Amino acid sequence: MRKRRAFITGITGQDGAYLAQLLLDKDYEVFGLVRRSSTSEVNEYRLHWLGIGADVHLVDGDLTDYTSLARLMRAIQPGEVYNLAAQSFVKTSWDQPLLTGRVTGLGVANILEAVRLECPAARFYQASSSEMFGLVQEPVQSEHTPFYPRSPYGVAKLYGHWMTVNYRESFRMHASTGILFNHESPLRGIEFVTRKVTDAVARIKCGRMQTLQLGNLDARRDWGHAKDYVRAMWLMLQQPRPGDYVVATGETHSVRDMCRIAFAHAGLDMAAHVVVDPLLLRPAEVDVLHGNPAKAGTHLGWAPSITFEALIREMVDADLQRLGAAPPRRKAQAA
Ligand code: NAP
Ligand code: GDP
Repeated sequence: MRKRRAFITGITGQDGAYLAQLLLDKDYEVFGLVRRSSTSEVNEYRLHWLGIGADVHLVDGDLTDYTSLARLMRAIQPGEVYNLAAQSFVKTSWDQPLLTGRVTGLGVANILEAVRLECPAARFYQASSSEMFGLVQEPVQSEHTPFYPRSPYGVAKLYGHWMTVNYRESFRMHASTGILFNHESPLRGIEFVTRKVTDAVARIKCGRMQTLQLGNLDARRDWGHAKDYVRAMWLMLQQPRPGDYVVATGETHSVRDMCRIAFAHAGLDMAAHVVVDPLLLRPAEVDVLHGNPAKAGTHLGWAPSITFEALIREMVDADLQRLGAAPPRRKAQAA
């Protein structure tokens, strides 16, 4: 019998790599879209870090090139398609708003069309984002909270979100969206605040850096672990009916809290190293995000398994290891 086939756009990103690992563990045949680059070995580092670089089929294409997507859908005939590719960094979306719109917004229409025309029975997952809530209209955000995006990224994600809902309603596609709140891991891109901090903590600990410049320390996010969040994506596509799901921890923490945990884990005092650089403040800020994952809990049986503190400590340890420094001894080991 043929193995179940999944197709992942964005397989070289944080979520794509963890999702590929999860699907391989479930005995799927995994195909991943990669865009042509002169540095492909570097771009594939997350897959190698997880030890699955040789187990996935990487295929050439680009989310902005409809013909590449149609060709691949026709040839592979996947049963599940996960659209994770995006220009995903909010700050860059003000510098490259049109590219962000083309990839993060219109790219979703390209892949939806390719699925509709070439493999219409495939189940489809769209990586929607809590950034669509932006200037939050309710203190705790659920599937019913009105959207108010605050960046070109958020606006582009909203287009992709509604296109997915529209294709579900227009063409009866099994198309679901996960409105995922921030999720991090040792494989998070270095430009995002958690990884920027844990990398800096490791460098300061090793004496390779003294000062860390950050922007808004009072911003609050509902941060979870990427490993937990890719499990929610998979669960959505196993349901008899498609839907839209908030995926979050239900807790919110400030950037300052996150820094404190990261520095303390390495035995450092953040006050001695962190400075605020006004150039890192954003043209429009999302001050606070706080999700309500009740629907994902009830319908999918999903719950996060990794605490915020454990996530940040794991990231610091991984960055210390990357620099060749042993992670700090845990209390349990020291006892
Ligand atoms: P990421 O690490 O930035 O990965 C983005 C992926 O998209 C990379 O594989 C990148 O390929 C690929 N990509 C970019 N432009 C492309 C194009 N034109 N054609 C094909 N592939 C392209 O993002 P992530 O953190 O894994 O997030 C996965 C998805 O979830 C994204 O859509 C993101 O916006 C969304 N999301 C993330 C979070 C979060 O907290 N992580 C929260 C909500 C939603 P290269 O390796 O070649 O750059
Ligand atoms: P986002 O929620 O997708 O924008 O994820 P980020 O990790 O990029 O940013 C989370 C929050 O941290 C935002 O409110 C940022 O303004 C804030 N922040 C504060 N300093 C920094 C910084 O130096 N880099 C980044 N990326 N974010 C920062």
